[in-house]
Amino acid sequence: MQTLYDTIVIGGGQSALACAYYLRREKLAYVLLDDQPVPGGSWSCYWDSLTLFSPAAFSSLPGWLMPESEREFPSRDEVVAYLTQYENRYSIPVERPVRVQEVCFQEGVFEIRTDKGTYHSRTVISATGSFQQPFIPEYAGADTFRGTQLHSAQYRNPEPFQGKKVLLVGGGNSGAQILAEVSKVANTKWVTLEEVTFLPDDVDGRVLFDQASARYYALQKGQDLDATQLNVGNIVMVPPVKEARDRGVLHTVRPFVRFYAEGVEWPDGTKEKMDAVIWCTGFRNVLGHLECLHLQEEAGKIPVKGTRALEQPGLWLVGYGSWTGFASATLIAVGRTARQTAAEIRDYLSSESKAAKV
Ligand SMILES: Cc1cc2nc3c(=O)[nH]c(=O)nc-3n(C[C@H](O)[C@H](O)[C@H](O)COP(=O)(O)OP(=O)(O)OC[C@H]3O[C@@H](n4cnc5c(N)ncnc54)[C@H](O)[C@@H]3O)c2cc1C
Repeated sequence: MQTLYDTIVIGGGQSALACAYYLRREKLAYVLLDDQPVPGGSWSCYWDSLTLFSPAAFSSLPGWLMPESEREFPSRDEVVAYLTQYENRYSIPVERPVRVQEVCFQEGVFEIRTDKGTYHSRTVISATGSFQQPFIPEYAGADTFRGTQLHSAQYRNPEPFQGKKVLLVGGGNSGAQILAEVSKVANTKWVTLEEVTFLPDDVDGRVLFDQASARYYALQKGQDLDATQLNVGNIVMVPPVKEARDRGVLHTVRPFVRFYAEGVEWPDGTKEKMDAVIWCTGFRNVLGHLECLHLQEEAGKIPVKGTRALEQPGLWLVGYGSWTGFASATLIAVGRTARQTAAEIRDYLSSESKAAKV
């Protein structure tokens, strides 16, 4: 006999765990399917020295605060340990490694095809994040470049770049943090679309959260906030980035125009040799497993109301960023959308059951 779950959650990262916390409270029959061999979602794949932007108490999932770190900001490994303990603390049922290949919908039931067999459920939460879809912008001649190219998703530590000439592309916090450590062992150049702005030294990532909150609540009230009022900077001055600034390496230049075999060509026509390029250019949502449902997709997003898919009854999407709930790609904010999602699923399932009895 095949089990028919109330809900199957695809993914095993922070978003999936936050959903599990509330599905458990709603007493629904659910399971998480995660393709990773160990808990922690994408966190265990980040670079070795990565630290959070905010203290532990501001980086926690619902129900249980992340234990205080000995340092100001918790490390990557502390987040992985926290997510692992969270899973155990709430006895969250996770099957791993199970890779969901496709999700189909037949006669009111989801059929979830995986590399370990087929599962069935009445509803689905997709919580697959974006880490498996690194984004690299197109540049002419990229395939002719003989140096190394890697995305921040593959970057671990500065060791392989010792003594090299390295171009870092991307004006976010990943770019700043990786530049900070690679510039200690290599000759670096930092390419961003425009000048980057730095947060004041004495504030941390909570300010970005507060800015996003202000913008969100203003939009809810139909107000348009003055962008300059909110734009206090986007790079958080964590200790390694401060140190890089003090060494004078935090300069940016505008993009090159094309690659050639040994390096890149700048807009004024000059060529510069490079040994490696590290792309810190972000990610796209991982949604390929939903293709079988033939949902409209625009700019890598599926139409939703809150987290509920508008075109597919019984499907919710959690943790992909603000389009699936305000700041939902963060540890602190995903709980809010997870709670709402579990409540909607409870109501959906009970209205389905009532309809079936009539
Ligand atoms: C460099 C960096 C620094 C960051 N710093 C912070 C920070 O300081 N604070 C903060 O709150 N956030 C931070 N974030 C954001 C945060 O790490 C991510 O938003 C978060 O990991 C997203 O969680 P998730 O559960 O949605 O996705 P993930 O953690 O990516 O988990 C998704 C899971 O689903 C699995 N999966 C994917 N596809 C399938 C499939 N088809 N079948 C089965 N399983 C599948 C994945 O392998 C993974 O285990 C940072 C992110 C980066 C990249």
